[in-house]
Amino acid sequence: MSTETPAKKELAAIKGTKDILPGEVEIWQKVEAEAKRLFELYGYRELRAPIIEPTELFERGTGQTTDIVTKEMYTFTDKGGRSNTLRPEYTPSVARAIIEHRLDLQPEPMRYYYIGPMFRYDKPQKGRYRQFHQIDIEVFNEKDPAIDAEIIEMAGALLKKLGVEGTETLVNSVGCRVCRPAYSRDLRAHAERVREQLCPDCQRKIAANPLRIFDCKVESCREQARRFPRIMDYLCPECGEHFDKVRSYLDLYKVNYRVEPNLVRGLDYYTKTTFEVVSRGLGAQNSLLGGGRYDDMMRDFGGPDICGIGFAMGMERLISILDIQPEKKKVLYFAYMEEEGKKKAVELARFFRQNGVECLVEFGYKSLKNQFGRANKLGAAWVCVVGEDEIRKRLYKLKDMTAGTQTEGRPEDLLKIIRGK
Ligand code: AMP
Repeated sequence: MSTETPAKKELAAIKGTKDILPGEVEIWQKVEAEAKRLFELYGYRELRAPIIEPTELFERGTGQTTDIVTKEMYTFTDKGGRSNTLRPEYTPSVARAIIEHRLDLQPEPMRYYYIGPMFRYDKPQKGRYRQFHQIDIEVFNEKDPAIDAEIIEMAGALLKKLGVEGTETLVNSVGCRVCRPAYSRDLRAHAERVREQLCPDCQRKIAANPLRIFDCKVESCREQARRFPRIMDYLCPECGEHFDKVRSYLDLYKVNYRVEPNLVRGLDYYTKTTFEVVSRGLGAQNSLLGGGRYDDMMRDFGGPDICGIGFAMGMERLISILDIQPEKKKVLYFAYMEEEGKKKAVELARFFRQNGVECLVEFGYKSLKNQFGRANKLGAAWVCVVGEDEIRKRLYKLKDMTAGTQTEGRPEDLLKIIRGK
């Protein structure tokens, strides 16, 4: 028997997931902060739901015939024998939380936002990950088409705030339970006639839910889908009027958009309005955000009969097209001598931090020269020198690392200099 230990396999992040490291994470934080600030301006409040949910929530919410539920869910049985799923999207969780906490009985408007990870077992590629992050907003109990336009405008306002250019907004209506059955019937008949030209997956969709053929990425299926009947020609008077009003409010908001008749989006629950913002900068996975109305979900969940609408924006895709540099941090670095200097530096750092200055005291560097070298390397804005002399006089040297100038003073004096006063 060999006594050699087998070579250890290097541990790596799971395929389709990635670390967001310092350097990049500041951009994420900026996007998150801008999104939160903007949504609050429109009356939205954050709602944080768990990452794991009962599998049934997505089967019933997202829909049995969607790619998400049929192929992409991270589902596992827990030790109690329950089937749980790492959420692939957020909308069903919000609907569940509203029902569970009867948020519909509260006076506050039901406008929620959330930023966090979602999980889908899809084939990873550029812009498509297995753990990805969404900025999500949902509005409940607003039937008025003005809200459809407002959330599209709000999405545009966020993109503008972040300096995103080269996007296009697509809108459509997918009808409702009144008008969609006739459309599905005609669509099914049409798809049946071209069955041989469709991929095996789409052939299965003909019977299950022909609308899902529009989600297929296979070019021959897309080619066929371009010749399918259009839902717009089947809308009932209510859906038709709703769509016209959405368009007039979009004009009022001065939103540029294009009606895209094949935009059905990959979820089963959409009714009436659907929309998507695509970006030229994204390549094959060009959808930056997508959303729509889902007026039946709450009732289908056994909750109150209130309508809903929302959108989700993919953060990885958004950040990949942003041109923002993380802000340079202004750090005060302490260079000290001996144990006494170290203790004083720790004390001084406490004072400066309490006054909002970012400080760094490192341990283990012996000489002042070494510590200055570190400060330089780290790009510290200032170095505070805490030597024997300084401690005795209670006056500390502050070097401005950019200007190369040096001053001496009490901590309060140095604070004024750092604050630029
Ligand atoms: P959906 O929830 O499918 O409507 O997607 C909304 C947005 O989430 C898309 O427009 C993408 O920006 C993003 N997204 C969806 N799936 C993924 C994924 N697998 N990886 C990265 N981003 C995704």
